[in-house]
Amino acid sequence: MEMTEMNKGILFIISGPAGSGKGTVVRELISSHSDIKLSVSATTRSPRPGEENGVHYHFITKDEFERRIKNGEILEYTTYCENYYGTPLKEVNEALERGNDIILEIEVDGAMQVKKKIENSVTIMLTPPDSVTLENRLRSRGTETDEVIKWRLERAKEEIRLLPDYDYSVINEDGMSDKCAEQIYGIICAEHKRTLHTRDIIKKFI
Ligand code: 5GP
Repeated sequence: MEMTEMNKGILFIISGPAGSGKGTVVRELISSHSDIKLSVSATTRSPRPGEENGVHYHFITKDEFERRIKNGEILEYTTYCENYYGTPLKEVNEALERGNDIILEIEVDGAMQVKKKIENSVTIMLTPPDSVTLENRLRSRGTETDEVIKWRLERAKEEIRLLPDYDYSVINEDGMSDKCAEQIYGIICAEHKRTLHTRDIIKKFI
């Protein structure tokens, strides 16, 4: 079958600060829509308990990460807490060519790099409803010192300031991650109806 704009997938980038609940929302979205793929990033950080290589991340060494950057195998990357995080180019291209939509769950730096490199990619920022909820969420993890929480809170506010650079924003209210996932699915459906992706319809009439 000839590949047309109609059956190519679209790349969606979902970013959100710590406390936005993006991990839960993205998992929800993927589990209820199996044709949407989630890109598995490469990272040099160590796996956390329960994380599997190739599922949550491709866990690789710093040398290997730098080799992949040099070889042009990484679409975008950033350093976060002294570790590299990056998106493998091949996986993204393959999903799009197969006609699958693909989601990158990445931080703001990487999001802006991809937006510039991949034409028609769509950026979505997920935010908590307000700063009180944000702080409550960061504190409720109970694993971090006051100083770290303060740092994360400041960083979260800096990231949210970049909201106007995104195409869409969605608010993730407490206990409403399923509703939030469906709102993102609504954006995905709407993007497919843009005439940019549907213009082949004309061929059926002329
Ligand atoms: P964590 O260590 O908590 O899994 O991730 C830390 C941060 O890195 C999160 O904000 C996450 O969205 C971001 N991240 C994960 N993978 C990538 C990636 O491939 N590229 C970029 N730019 N950020 C990533």
